[in-house]
Amino acid sequence: MIKDNLSLIKEKIRLAEIKAGRKEGSVKLMAVSKFHPVNEIQEAIASGQTLFGENRVQEAKEKFTPLINSNSSIQLHIIGQLQSNKVKNAVLLASCIQSLDRLDLLKEIEKQASKINKEIEVLFELHTGEESKSGYQTLEELEESLEYCASGLAPHVIPKGFMTMAPFSKDKNLIRKSFITLRESAEKMKRLYPQFSLDELSMGMSGDFEIAIEEGSTLVRVGTAIFGERDYSKK
Ligand SMILES: *Cc1c(COP(=O)(O)O)cnc(C)c1O
Repeated sequence: MIKDNLSLIKEKIRLAEIKAGRKEGSVKLMAVSKFHPVNEIQEAIASGQTLFGENRVQEAKEKFTPLINSNSSIQLHIIGQLQSNKVKNAVLLASCIQSLDRLDLLKEIEKQASKINKEIEVLFELHTGEESKSGYQTLEELEESLEYCASGLAPHVIPKGFMTMAPFSKDKNLIRKSFITLRESAEKMKRLYPQFSLDELSMGMSGDFEIAIEEGSTLVRVGTAIFGERDYSKK
């Protein structure tokens, strides 16, 4: 069933790429496995899925440490709000932290990454919707963090692009606006910091990934449409 869901979503991604006049295969699919057990993740892996996202570091550590140790093609990104005291494990586990939302966190990621001499990719999460609260609240704060990277103070942190969450809304225009805001902000930052390759635009979830692809998403984060509803009572 997870296998079927994955094929269906891949087909929808392909159609959305075509509709948007984009190159086929230009959008990566991340499977967001938070609250779902290891056996379901293994089912996704058996269907060829290699890129996963988790919100909480402790949960990610328990589930993914054995998976990553036994299969080097598996990549894990941290996509949930990250407390500073969780950064050490996040840096150990993940190839990318998508939820970088403040300069203090950037400094902590650099500190922990330098300790184990690992280069870690990051996406700057930008607040673009009315209802979603996470992410940098202003472009000025975002710029301050990029400036910090540009000054060479975080050599283990590799900026790769931007992430956002659209508002939880049925209003498609509101959702689209949020994605457009991310794309336009990204273009602005790319002009200001041409020394970085900031091409990743992580936007779009189960309910809105097709709109996100029309607006330039390069990576969609899909949970429910792959694994089904999350059972929050289990944790
Ligand atoms: C949970 C989550 C997702 C996946 O959401 P679905 O609606 O289940 O596809 C994507 N991105 C982030 C940041 C999330 O927290």
